[in-house]
Amino acid sequence: MLPGSRGDPLNPSLPNPASTVTVTVIGAGVAGMSAACSLADAGLRVQLVERRGYLGGRASSYLHPGVNEVIDNCQHVLFGCCTNLIGFYNRMGVADKIHWTRHMTMIEPSGRRSRLGPFEMGRWGLPAPLHGTPSLLSAKAFSVADKLALGRAFRAMMRRGSTDRSTETLGDWLRRHKQTRGAMDRFWRLVIASALNADIENIAVPYAAKVIRELFMNSAEAGAMGMSTVPLSELYAGAERHLNGRGGSVVYNSSVEGLRWDEVSKRWSVQTRAGELISDFVVVALPFEAAAKLLANMPAAEGARELITKIEKHEHWPLCSVHLWFDREITNLPHAVLLDREIHWLYNKTRLQPSRHLKGSYVELVVSASRSFAALSREDAIALAMRELAEFFPVVNEAKLEKAALIKEVRATFGVPPGIDAARPDAASPWPRVYLAGDWINTGWPSTMESAARSGHLAAEAVCSSIGLSESFLVPDMKPKGLMRFV
Ligand SMILES: Cc1cc2nc3c(=O)[nH]c(=O)nc-3n(C[C@H](O)[C@H](O)[C@H](O)COP(=O)(O)OP(=O)(O)OC[C@H]3O[C@@H](n4cnc5c(N)ncnc54)[C@H](O)[C@@H]3O)c2cc1C
Repeated sequence: MLPGSRGDPLNPSLPNPASTVTVTVIGAGVAGMSAACSLADAGLRVQLVERRGYLGGRASSYLHPGVNEVIDNCQHVLFGCCTNLIGFYNRMGVADKIHWTRHMTMIEPSGRRSRLGPFEMGRWGLPAPLHGTPSLLSAKAFSVADKLALGRAFRAMMRRGSTDRSTETLGDWLRRHKQTRGAMDRFWRLVIASALNADIENIAVPYAAKVIRELFMNSAEAGAMGMSTVPLSELYAGAERHLNGRGGSVVYNSSVEGLRWDEVSKRWSVQTRAGELISDFVVVALPFEAAAKLLANMPAAEGARELITKIEKHEHWPLCSVHLWFDREITNLPHAVLLDREIHWLYNKTRLQPSRHLKGSYVELVVSASRSFAALSREDAIALAMRELAEFFPVVNEAKLEKAALIKEVRATFGVPPGIDAARPDAASPWPRVYLAGDWINTGWPSTMESAARSGHLAAEAVCSSIGLSESFLVPDMKPKGLMRFV
């Protein structure tokens, strides 16, 4: 059995003990980057080890050889309530690269549009949670019965106690709350199932209620949607600059294959394909399946088997994106929600990322949580996307499609079915000086960049606390505004 790490400062007699402490963070996704940057700020010497040749993990961009364009692995959106992700962007100095919007345009296949978002008249608006009511009431996409049903469900989800304790699936809860077909198909199965990337029969009510409260009720600021104005890996290049400026480094193209504990030096040897890295602490910031593989080969430790069993309970959900380059503009909308079809979201990359300086236009279509779409061939998926896109924007029929790419991420996110919280461990691990991070850690958030950033901050706090540093990296939640302060 290995010795415990708690209360074991490495060298407290030195004036700045942190500067002598080395940490290897494994995995340069949002979780690993936020842990690494926080630890570097606390003065620790950090090396961030990544299997690939670029930063960002699932939230990355890369040069797609088929189309010779840098594309995001998929459009990644954040919201105002993502306080830890925004805190991480502030730390890296890239927060100004996010484009914010408070409105969402829903389009029916006939082309009819409805605009959701907060009511604003000059500087004035309605107090939360009523700020979005006028646009919902005027939305043509929903019938009167749909609107009443949605209002009923929102009211029930506002009450934290009963929804937060619920063990039902969202599907059962919605049927019990008599949701209409329109509300089901155009809101719950589209907006909420996309936000949690799973079908409503596999979503736990507390997670859905959290999304409703944060995006639609707490405040207009919490529900504002953010999108990067530069490709994702460019956004996250700020992390490498941040680390380099604080004595840290990124080691690319180095897949970690094992961890070995040296009883004499009380340090970890991190075994990579490129060689061995020695460090005092390790933060394992991997997706759950990669974490399970690495941890299964660790030295015996009390609680290790239980941890692996928990990790094995997680399940993947897919996300697909179809990238289309046209010879002309298809729409001047920066983004839209597409109703009643297989394709769900449109992101107009020409508008959102003007630094691309494209001649025609580039749009990305996102299909959330669809196992059937993920099973289509490239040709069939692109043909289906083109057919459906033309129903919303008939100009597609005249435009020339110059090139297209399909990205299928079958392991995009983990699901949040009832009971999943019991399978989400904390940052501490059964091994001394080894901490866990990753979107699947116990953060209370679904599989998102915010959950990843939170997990990185929690792991960094845990490392600091074990050497006697009381650093606080976790950014508090946004406070509800208006009438929501009294709920
Ligand atoms: C298609 C798609 C769309 C999404 N859309 C959104 C969205 O709109 N908004 C949102 O908030 N979230 C979205 N997500 C989820 C979000 O991307 C993830 O929740 C988040 O990026 C996870 O970060 P992470 O650091 O926990 O894990 P990862 O990003 O998976 O990072 C883990 C890193 O570890 C590396 N690695 C793996 N094995 C090893 C090894 N053995 N040695 C060294 N390195 C290793 C990987 O290469 C990777 O870089 C989306 C995800 C996908 C796939």
